[in-house]
Amino acid sequence: ADKKVVDWKYAVCGYCSTGCSIEVGLNAEGKPVASRGKGNAPVNQGKLCIKGIFEHELSTTSGRGTEPLMRDKIYNGFTPVSWDAALDRTAAEFKRIQEKYGRDSVAVVSTGQLLTEEFYTLGKLVRGVIGTNNYDGNTTLCMASAVSGYKRSFGADGPPGCYDDFENTHCLMAFGSNLPEQHPIIYWRLKEALEKRKFPLIVVDPRVTMFAQFADIHLPITPGTDLVLLNALAHVILKEGLQKQEYIDAHCNGFEELKATCEKYDPVTASRICGIDPDTIKHVARIYAKAPSAMSIWTMGINQSTHGTDGVCGINNLNLITGNIGIPGGTSLSITGQCNAMGTREWSSCSGLPGYRMLEKPEHRKEVAEFWGVDESFFPAKRGLQQTDIFPAIESGEIKALWIVATNPLTSMPNQPRIKKALEKLEFMVVQDGYQDCETVNYAHVYLPAAVWGEKEGVQTNTERRVNLVRKFTEAPGNSKPDHWIFSELAKRFEAGQKIRFPETTSDIFDEMKQLSKGQGRNLDISGMSHDLIEAQRGIQWPMREGEDTGNPRLYSDGVFPTPNGKANLLAMDYIEDNEVPDASYPFWMNSGRVVEHFHTRTKTGKIGNLNKFSPTPYMEMNPDSAKEFGVEHQKYVRLVSRRGDAVVMVQLTQRVPRNMLFIPMHYHDCVNRLSLGLLDPYSRQPAFKQCAVRIEHI
Ligand code: SF4
Repeated sequence: ADKKVVDWKYAVCGYCSTGCSIEVGLNAEGKPVASRGKGNAPVNQGKLCIKGIFEHELSTTSGRGTEPLMRDKIYNGFTPVSWDAALDRTAAEFKRIQEKYGRDSVAVVSTGQLLTEEFYTLGKLVRGVIGTNNYDGNTTLCMASAVSGYKRSFGADGPPGCYDDFENTHCLMAFGSNLPEQHPIIYWRLKEALEKRKFPLIVVDPRVTMFAQFADIHLPITPGTDLVLLNALAHVILKEGLQKQEYIDAHCNGFEELKATCEKYDPVTASRICGIDPDTIKHVARIYAKAPSAMSIWTMGINQSTHGTDGVCGINNLNLITGNIGIPGGTSLSITGQCNAMGTREWSSCSGLPGYRMLEKPEHRKEVAEFWGVDESFFPAKRGLQQTDIFPAIESGEIKALWIVATNPLTSMPNQPRIKKALEKLEFMVVQDGYQDCETVNYAHVYLPAAVWGEKEGVQTNTERRVNLVRKFTEAPGNSKPDHWIFSELAKRFEAGQKIRFPETTSDIFDEMKQLSKGQGRNLDISGMSHDLIEAQRGIQWPMREGEDTGNPRLYSDGVFPTPNGKANLLAMDYIEDNEVPDASYPFWMNSGRVVEHFHTRTKTGKIGNLNKFSPTPYMEMNPDSAKEFGVEHQKYVRLVSRRGDAVVMVQLTQRVPRNMLFIPMHYHDCVNRLSLGLLDPYSRQPAFKQCAVRIEHI
């Protein structure tokens, strides 16, 4: 293709949640041939990581679907069909199954990859038309513990801080986050801040990650014991009177209960469980509490645990008792996973109703029912099953039909052999995805080809609540359609869907969301935004209320929280050991995580040569001393075995992992999730991907 760029189109990156503003260069034929960071963009100021630099190559990746496909039985060949035929069959199967087995016998699992307007439309279809309560997004595998932690501590979801906090903080503590590889441009922002003004960087991670190598203090914690460390830090702060008592008295519930619980977690006792020596615990607690402002960030090391929500609440406790919420440089900032994981949390209605409304609140059900023009009694009064409970419900026969939208559970869910068997049991499955070759399509009866990034227009929200815009700059291949078109066409095939208005364009959908976002005391208010204004400001942080010129960087700066008495909740939590741990039969911890060149299940990045060539095959990191003990050699293949299954990986010897741990990138099919166990956090239902036991076998 002619590489000469004649036009640049604005977008926000479609991979991670950093939310970099990007421009895609088009040649004279209108084909994407280049990508560059957008200058003067508040998030990335012209920078991109390696995934962003090659993002225009997505438009020529293989494996895209071009026509709807159907078949009677899985394992038969697919036949290309018209959209009418595919949508008619999907609607007819959903109706048949719901009539026979009940409304909730159909389940829907979506993603963090859609545009926010599409999430909103899908929520309207599922909650207002199809009427199943078994509806979730793949954020349950990723950010669910952050959501439930924010809700328990502050009364509502929504990260209270922003990237500007790096420029203001006096201490940063990161939990289970390998920022330089997972969110390289956020790391660049932090590094710039550190170069201008030195402040302590503390990294808590069992592995010596790239981030840990750059830290002033690395705490190599025992997997799954973050709550113990957090309670011990609070213990030291309270014992030594370093807390901000005035802030606690004015803005927090539960101080006495927290104090009583933390009393038990003295550094010596805690050290025996979490593996960090008592003096280091004391040292870190003092640094954090004495800093004029301090912030905590975290990703999957906290969330993907049986104690994920407690870990998040423990981080929030730490920041509340030190007065570090809502101030410049003082915050609890969950670093989100997917490009639009926040959009699904805000608007998809997976966990409730749009705009962070809750099914449990009658006034919220009434408000949305009136706005959409549906009968209020159609809404359930509490949330149904999440993704990790939907698959067991398929096994038990409670769920008979499944609609998968832009996600790949056959690779991403823990205990892959079990997921395969569950999918084989379904009476009907439809997969809606841009990629026909994604592994889950192998179990579908109907495949609906969807447009992907840059083939449609709409917004995404990043980690710091910044709503940013992807302009359409290229056509979807063949007969693929935007997801919002598919949702509204499917709605027409249901009686209830013929009575509800589904706007045709994403800017009209955005206008509808703006109306619904307005309201006294609502933080998630986008009524002051428009697509054009978002592009002009290169992203705007909610809340931005009607009449305001721009967004707001922080939540809770006034010390008022969306709880019944306006105070945040300090939560007293005891540590319970409830996970699989290494033993004589399975002597290694298996840890998993991302690498910079790949994204999720490699549906996209596995096909971009400049990315895939860095790590084309599954591998594991192993400590050289353990390798010697077990007779394992560098770059040779071994079989890993867990109680669930086995996987073959190439050995990479490195000091980055301790002797009793193996690290495997999460991205590969038939690999890490053939081994993982995935016990669930009781609040978020998020799996503990990072904690299971394996052994090595020679091949
Ligand atoms: Fe895209 Fe994330 Fe890389 Fe930015 S850091 S270019 S958002 S993948």
